[in-house]
Amino acid sequence: MALIVQKYGGTSVGSIERIMHVARKVKSFRDQGHDLVVVLSAMSGETNRLIDLAKQVQSSPDARELDVLLSTGEQQTIALLVMALKQIGVDARSYTGPQVRILTDSSFNKARILSIEESRMRKDLDEGRVVVAAGFQGVDENGNTTTLGRGGSDTTAVALAATLKADECQIYTDVDGVYTTDPRVVPEARRLNRITFEEMLELASLGSKVLQIRAVEFAGKYNVPLRVLSSFKDGEGTLITYEEDGMEEPLISGIAFQRDEAKLTILGVPDEPGVAYRILGPIGDANIEVDMIVQNVGADDTTDFTFTVNRNDYEKALKILQSTAEELGARDVNGDVKIVKISVVGVGMRSHAGIAATMFKALADERINIRMISTSEIKTSVVVDEKYLELAVRTLHSAFKLEQELTQA
Ligand code: ASP
Ligand code: MG
Repeated sequence: MALIVQKYGGTSVGSIERIMHVARKVKSFRDQGHDLVVVLSAMSGETNRLIDLAKQVQSSPDARELDVLLSTGEQQTIALLVMALKQIGVDARSYTGPQVRILTDSSFNKARILSIEESRMRKDLDEGRVVVAAGFQGVDENGNTTTLGRGGSDTTAVALAATLKADECQIYTDVDGVYTTDPRVVPEARRLNRITFEEMLELASLGSKVLQIRAVEFAGKYNVPLRVLSSFKDGEGTLITYEEDGMEEPLISGIAFQRDEAKLTILGVPDEPGVAYRILGPIGDANIEVDMIVQNVGADDTTDFTFTVNRNDYEKALKILQSTAEELGARDVNGDVKIVKISVVGVGMRSHAGIAATMFKALADERINIRMISTSEIKTSVVVDEKYLELAVRTLHSAFKLEQELTQA
């Protein structure tokens, strides 16, 4: 018998029928003797609908009042699920965030959890009840309702699991796990049975939008085993944990890509201290996030400097760079919005040389030109022309044999 925290996302509770389905799933876990805390999102579309209502009334909705409004979405689903559970003979009780007492700071719309009271939940569990808690919300020390930011129910679930020292935190969603890459690009992409927190963070931040990044960080910090599964399809899903000693890890776990990058280059800047700062300082001041940075080896006392930004920030960054170029007496500025970043991710990279070489050879064999390269402990990324995205991802997926179950070292 285990204590399991389960989170069901908006599509899983998107209609009465689906709420009934969740109730039956919860009952089947109860029947196996498990203790359950269930965290719910609002019905799919509901949070957006509420935001839209607010905007019809006030163009920039009051932050405190918006949280009062948004928290009602999750309040509907928890009550409905408890009714559905009772209808099939499962004892349960619902709690809003403030009722659990999920204490947060006072940053409305993006509050952070400070602490969670476990006594009421424990009492229910001890008395054989399923606890159904609203995701995405809490209360500040002055009793104001707060919300945790979009997708925040994942974080609620992980936080409750950490507090209750649950055996597992299961995130039910509309995909059946984390894949080696996007199956829409590579039909042979395979569901991973397990992946480490670090790998998941790299994959999540690179656009595999399965889990809220904050929730993964939180789970890693408190060592909460996290499992992503489908609420519609039976299966084991993907377990996200720490690397286990002695366990053989695949070299590469997955391939992530980002379509919305753009690169900018400033040519012929003085090769002297302070130049990188003078180039990137103004970019940062304009709140533009810089991703990859490459500076060439200097020649003739000058050097070239290339970096990537989100495509939406390209025009803005280009203008700034042009004026920096004038100040620095640079030779030229150019840029390209038709580029993408592709990254292979795997903890196996730590102990195995040659991953980058395999990657470069595979791309070379397809005559795909690599425009930029960056590496970190468990990730190697390349920038290539946008038109090669699909080909490059497919090529790398097969070069690392990711379609096969065993990619062992
Ligand atoms: N209902 C909230 C949202 O749509 C929180 C969540 O679903 O996790 O962002
Ligand atoms: Mg969600």
